[in-house]
Formats: sequence, structure tokens, C-alpha cells
Amino acid sequence: MTLNLLFSAPEGRWASYRNVLPRACDAAGLDVNLSRDTAPGDVDYVVYAPNDTMSDFAPFTRAKAVLSLWAGVEKIISNETLTQPLTRMVDPGLREGMRDYIVGHVMRYHLGMDAHINNPDRLWVADAPPLARHRRVGILGLGELGAFCASALSELGFDVAGWSRREKTLTGVTTYAGEDGLREILSRSEILVLLLPSTPQTENLFSAEAFARLPRGARIINPGRGALIDDDALLAALAAGRVAHATLDVFRQEPLPRDHPFWSEPRITVTPHIASETRPETASEVIAQNIKRSEAGEPLLYLVDRSAGY
Ligand code: NDP
Repeated sequence: MTLNLLFSAPEGRWASYRNVLPRACDAAGLDVNLSRDTAPGDVDYVVYAPNDTMSDFAPFTRAKAVLSLWAGVEKIISNETLTQPLTRMVDPGLREGMRDYIVGHVMRYHLGMDAHINNPDRLWVADAPPLARHRRVGILGLGELGAFCASALSELGFDVAGWSRREKTLTGVTTYAGEDGLREILSRSEILVLLLPSTPQTENLFSAEAFARLPRGARIINPGRGALIDDDALLAALAAGRVAHATLDVFRQEPLPRDHPFWSEPRITVTPHIASETRPETASEVIAQNIKRSEAGEPLLYLVDRSAGY
């Protein structure tokens, strides 16, 4: 039986998936018709990323699932028309990209690279950086991406701790959970990475109070979501020296408006939401395998827990 897959995503994405996704489905033994304009009542699965043309899921009465192309689902989760099961993207390519970004930016801070790359006064300051094992890195969020990055940093020798909603164990990583755990990880993290989803519970988690708990001169890397941080509190923490530098990849408004104070703050590096992205080749295999499971009557992988918000 041919399965009808509707592809609904921002315009530029179609070219990346139109051949790759059917090929992955074929390799998984699925017979699919991938299209951007199947009649809603005939659609079996919706492959989706938020876009300007479709946000009403009610007409997809036959659809067995909506499969998000993105890992973060905060823009979809409160859509009341979306009553179908919703899965989020867990993609090996996405994980590897995030690891590369995090390791790169942690290394930049750890080695103090900026002082040598930009040294107009030709200062000879021969302070060698400490070994990685003497550098405390904290990762908030130990999910698919956070746990992978924490393990990679641990394998490089860093003294890594992580924080999640539920308690968990991870080889080579000191783990914390709950509010007490948050206070502890903040107080030990010289470099702090935010890899939490945006939910009502995590919004503005980084307020003045949280910044005040960090060791003086801490560095922050945020590829999670802009709403995790209270922007004004971050600017104040930078001005006060509480935070020495921040690398931000995600923002409350994207693209970051040209007059936003983050652009002119020398202690902030802005990257334009490029920490990692879903890779069509690997993501298509994940989607195909999930549809295959569903068709075999097995539970879908990576289901979004709507009550938890991610
Ligand atoms: P997961 O859902 O796999 O992991 C989320 C982690 O956050 C889990 O460890 C979870 O805890 C923890 N968490 C959630 N809520 C809380 C809370 N209230 N308190 C403490 N911990 C909490 O997500 P991923 O790792 O796949 O992705 C994380 C985020 O990264 C995405 O939601 C997205 O916003 C962002 N992202 C950014 C990209 C970029 O390019 N900048 C690319 C892709 C994703 P528990 O383990 O207990 O569930």
C-alpha cells in the first residue's frame, strides 16, 4: 500500500528532501508518495517544520503522526489543532553538528584564544591555560544533544557536570537534577552550556539570580533557545563582570534585530542559529524508520511529551 507523506516546511527545504526522503523510505521497505500538496484527507503522515503556509492540522483526519523536522518543538506544541501524535527530530547529524559547535566554543574559552587572535598592543602574556581536567564545564540539559556533548567534553578530559529535569547517570559526567542541583551546577561552572528546550518552566531560567550564582568571570554558550535567558539580566551580568563573555546562537527574535544591544556588546559573540541543523540524509533515515515502526504497530520513537512541553 502506498503511504501519502505530506511535506510542509519552509520553502527552501523541499529541494533537500524531495529525493532523499523517498530514497530512505524505499530503503526501509516503505512505498511512499512524498508531496507538498496531497489532499489533507488522504495524508498518512505529515513531515513538518513551522512555515508560513500551513499551521492547521485539523483537516488531516487520517494522519497517524506529525513528524517534526526540528528538535525544538516550542512553536508547534501549543497548536490546538494538532491532535495527532507529534514526534521531534533526533538525528545523528544534528547531534554531531552540535558536538562540533560546543567543543569549538568551549575550546575557544578554555584556551583563551581571543587574547592571542586579537592582540593589537602586542602584549606578551605567557599564561598557559590549565589542563582540560582542571576546567569545570556545566551543561544544562542532558537530552539527546546535551548528553552527547557532555560525553564528548568528558572524553577530551574536561571536568563536566550536567543538569536535567529527572535524575540520570552518565559515564564521566557529574549529574544534578532539581532546584538544589541547579544551584550546585551553577556555582561550579566556569563555562556553562545551555541545551535546554524552551518550555514554560525553562523560560527566563537565566535571570539575575542565576547569573549571580556563577563563579565570577564565567562564560556562557547558549545554543538552546533565546527565551532561556533574560536579555537585560545577561547584559547587566556582563557589565558587572559576573559573566566575562557569552556566545549566543539563539534569540527571542530571529534574525536578531540589527539594533539589538547584543550586536554592539563586545563581550557577546552572536552566531546566527547555526549551532547545528537537521541533516536531510540522516534525518530522512530517522523519519523512514519511525514510519516503518508505526506501520508495524510499534510505538513511535521520540514522541513529544506535551505535558512536559518538549
Ligand atoms: P531533549 O528533549 O532530548 O533534551 C532536553 C533536556 O533538557 C533533557 O535532559 C531534559 O531533562 C532537560 N530539561 C527539560 N526541561 C527541564 C527543566 N524544566 N529542568 C531541568 N531540565 C530540563 O532535547 P535535545 O537535546 O534534542 O535538544 C535540546 C534543545 O536544543 C532543543 O529543544 C532546541 O531548543 C535546541 N536546539 C538548538 C539547535 C541550534 O542549532 N541552536 C539545534 C537543535 C536543537 P530530562 O532528561 O529529565 O527529560
